[in-house]
Amino acid sequence: YCKINGRNSSFFYSSKMDKIYNDMLLIEVDIRKALQNNEFKLFYQPQIDVLSEKVIGLEALIRWNHPLKGAIPPSTFIPLAEESGLITQIGEWVIREACQQFMIWRVKGYQPLRIAVNVSAIELQRFDFADKVAIIINETEMDPAYLEFEITENSVMQNTEDCIKTMNTLRKMGISLSIDDFGTGYSSFGYLKKFPINYLKIDQSFIRSALTEASSAEIVKAMIQLAHNFDLKVVAEGVEEANILSLLRDHHCDYYQGYFYSKPLPIEQLETTVLCKTTN
Ligand code: C2E
Ligand code: CA
Ligand code: CA
Ligand code: CA
Repeated sequence: YCKINGRNSSFFYSSKMDKIYNDMLLIEVDIRKALQNNEFKLFYQPQIDVLSEKVIGLEALIRWNHPLKGAIPPSTFIPLAEESGLITQIGEWVIREACQQFMIWRVKGYQPLRIAVNVSAIELQRFDFADKVAIIINETEMDPAYLEFEITENSVMQNTEDCIKTMNTLRKMGISLSIDDFGTGYSSFGYLKKFPINYLKIDQSFIRSALTEASSAEIVKAMIQLAHNFDLKVVAEGVEEANILSLLRDHHCDYYQGYFYSKPLPIEQLETTVLCKTTN
């Protein structure tokens, strides 16, 4: 941010910054209402085993259908929720909702699938995050072996020691952890050894350009090898074409997700097209 001092710049400041500030206040009010009125929904995108081609998990992705403004993408409102602190409430809602949905599917007789939930840096850094998660697990009776948290690379690079503590607590509870958007952040490989994680998710940008840019293909290959050296499983994100899938297969990538298999789906559609009933 630049500091506004002079008179000349203050005109510019008030017209432009006030609008942004107003938008922020409005969206804050709207997010509070959305939490009260149940306007948020979770969609789920299947994660596929590259070799067996079976669905091995689901990533929960939040959707907001605003009563007046229509669909607002998470890339728009999550950053604003992070700035206003409301992400804590949204995050709690997301975790509870995913756990409840898992239990509903169990009761309905579907084979259980691991559910990956996105956790923002702000949530992870709260001192009571693991306690909140424990409460939700108790309340919903979720089996934590089927719960996974996706954390972006950069979020663990601030307050690293505290984050590692929280991550260790979560792992002890039986939850798995993955590093999301791998390759886009600090990309310091040293931390892979320090962090108690199970999965690396290679960012879509590398996957999408892997067929057209030799350098991206090399990076993808190197990331997979690196992850395997650390005993981590690799998930490739944003797989849109069969050709990329064969490249991933050649390089022994473990899992993938992307439009090639399926977009994120609402519950009803997931039940009819993706989930399987247990046979016994
Ligand atoms: P992300 O965690 O990296 O999620 C992957 C995004 O890529 C999702 O966008 C997904 O719909 C999209 N995607 C999946 N496959 C493909 C593909 O083959 N091609 C393309 N072009 N895109 C694909 P979405 O749902 O709009 O979410 C955007 C971001 O918003 C997420 O990125 C995540 O950072 C954040 N987000 C979403 N839901 C939550 C949530 O519940 N909590 C938090 N804290 N953040 C969330
Ligand atoms: Ca994610
Ligand atoms: Ca990602
Ligand atoms: Ca992302």
